[in-house]
Parts: sequence; structure tokens; C-alpha cells
Amino acid sequence: MNFEDRLEHRLALVGREYSKAEFPWVIGYSGGKDSSLTVKIVFEAISRLRKKRVPLHIIYCDTGVEIPVVTGFVKTTLRGIQRQAFESQIPISCHVARPELADRFFVRVIGRGYPPPTNKFRWCTDRLRIAPIQRLMNKLGDERNVVVLGVRENESEERKRTLSRNATQEAFYYRHSQSGKHRLFCPIVDFDVIDVWEGLHLLAHPSAIDVGQLAALYKKASGECPIVRDVAGSPCGQGRFGCWTCTVVRKDRAVQSLVQEGYTALAPLLGFRDWLISMRDLPEHRCSVRRNGTPGLGPLRLKSRKVALKRLLAAEAASGIRLITPPEIRAIQSLWKLDANSGSYSEDVES
Ligand code: SF4
Repeated sequence: MNFEDRLEHRLALVGREYSKAEFPWVIGYSGGKDSSLTVKIVFEAISRLRKKRVPLHIIYCDTGVEIPVVTGFVKTTLRGIQRQAFESQIPISCHVARPELADRFFVRVIGRGYPPPTNKFRWCTDRLRIAPIQRLMNKLGDERNVVVLGVRENESEERKRTLSRNATQEAFYYRHSQSGKHRLFCPIVDFDVIDVWEGLHLLAHPSAIDVGQLAALYKKASGECPIVRDVAGSPCGQGRFGCWTCTVVRKDRAVQSLVQEGYTALAPLLGFRDWLISMRDLPEHRCSVRRNGTPGLGPLRLKSRKVALKRLLAAEAASGIRLITPPEIRAIQSLWKLDANSGSYSEDVES
């Protein structure tokens, strides 16, 4: 069967599943190619139905440290999808989830002194992406909502294993590996990368998803940070649909290539991220006591956190891009006060 026929079958399947649905569908959207194709398939399948049943929610997570050019593209796209859904009488609403103030990247790193994330201590994905999405899903109501995801088996071996561990009797449906609450519907699970790009080009609607611009964003970097735990097990932070502060990867090819392509305003951000990596690895920036009181590499020292804020504000001024919000700065300063008062994490711990 050629790809066009496969795509037609998939549209019919999505239409049938939606027609049977009794609870809303929630579509995870990162702005990347896989979730974009998933939105296009759902949009097209449902626009062909005479009766639109349950509401559809498209959810996107803005961590506050998304790559500025990319998050601008994604938010414009979401507004366009919302408008076109309204015009086509498809019951779609778009939502943006955000981490709580205490969980924002800079509040954790510069305020609390968390070491910038590594592959071994990757505290960020849960706090910045998974928890905000989970909170939003809880707000959207019933645990029986179906979560539609653009995950694919052939993204990685790890992804394939996780999917097969969580497969159900029904084709294209998976269990949520940890909460076990929501059912996951993955309509492009068997697609490869070529299928994804072909599908994106074949499906015209919603035209708010600008495939040319999307392809340009993928020119030199790929990868999307997961928003639902475990289903997407591969490390993120190497693609344009992750955080500009990502220190899980040594080299940030995404921002690097954007700078090379002419987005020179991003250069100070890259410099700040590289500095974060270098300071994280130097023991002199870390307290000698952990938060639980045991000896060992503890939080970033207060002195280093203050330098980090100074450098971040300098990057903000040099780039002309808002990188941190006033409430985040206030939260950081009250955390510094707490640590200074406790004595354990003052600048003088290690001199
Ligand atoms: S992109 Fe990097 S910093 Fe952001 S949540 Fe993913 S692993 Fe963490």
C-alpha cells in the first residue's frame, strides 16, 4: 500500500475513534514535526465528520526557557489553529501549560542552587514539562480523557521498548506507563520520518501549521522534549523543541545552528548556557554539604548563584530578549535570604 493510501486509512481510523469517544481528547503538542502531523491528522479526520462529538484540547507547555524563536513560531501556530478550528466548526481549544513559579528553571538553579541538569540528575523534565501538563490535564477534567500523542516506535530503541511494554489489546492504544490513568492514542506510532514529512506536506489543514517554516527549524537539529512521562524515554535537549538552557547535552546544536543561520541575538544565550555547564562541573561552585545535611557535592554556592543572575541579566541586555521575569527574580531573592539566614549555604561555606 502506498503512503497516500495508508494515510487515508489512518484518517478513517481517527475519524472512527473520535466518533466513538465519550470523553474529550487531549492532544499533546510541542510544535515539532510529529505532534504537528498528529494535529493535522486529527483536524482533517474530524473536519470530514458531520457530527463533532467531544471537545478536543491541544496542549502546549511553555517552560519559560523555550528557545525564543521557536516558542514564537509555536504560539503563532496555536493562535492560527484556534482560529481555523473555529472557522471549520471543529471544537478545538488550545491551552498553554506553565511550570509553577517555584519550579521554573532559574528559580531552581539560581534561587535554590540546583545544579544545572545532567543526564544522571535530570530533575528538569518532570518539573518543567510533565507536571505542568499533568496539572492542566487534571483541570481539563476526567481521567477517562484520551491523550493523543505523536510518538513513533522508530524514534529510538528505547521508545520502541516503552511502547511495547505499554501496549494494549487495541491497536494504537497504550497505557500511560506511570499513572495508569489516561489512555494514550498514538495514530502515527508506525510512521517513519519520511512518512511524517510526507504526511505534513499532503495534509493542507490546518494551514496555520506552516510546514516550510517547520522544515527550516529542523534543518540542523531535531528532537522533542517529552511531555508525558516515560512514553518518550529518549533524552531531550538536543532539538529545537526543548529548552535553550538545556545542560543535559554538552553541545547545544539547536541554538548554535540558529546563531549560524543569522539569529545572532541568541548568541548571548548560548554563552550563558555554556557557562552554566562549565560552572556546574567545578567543585568550587558547589557547597560541601548536601541539602540533607550529608557531606558531598551540595547546592550551588550563594556566591555562584549571584554571579549566575548577573550573567543572565547581562545576556538579557545583550540579546534584547526577556529571559527571566520579575516574579522569578523576587522568588530567587527570597530563596537566597532563606539560605543566607540558615548559615549552611552562605558564601563563606567554602572559602
Ligand atoms: S530540554 Fe533539557 S533542560 Fe529542558 S526539560 Fe528537557 S532535558 Fe530538561
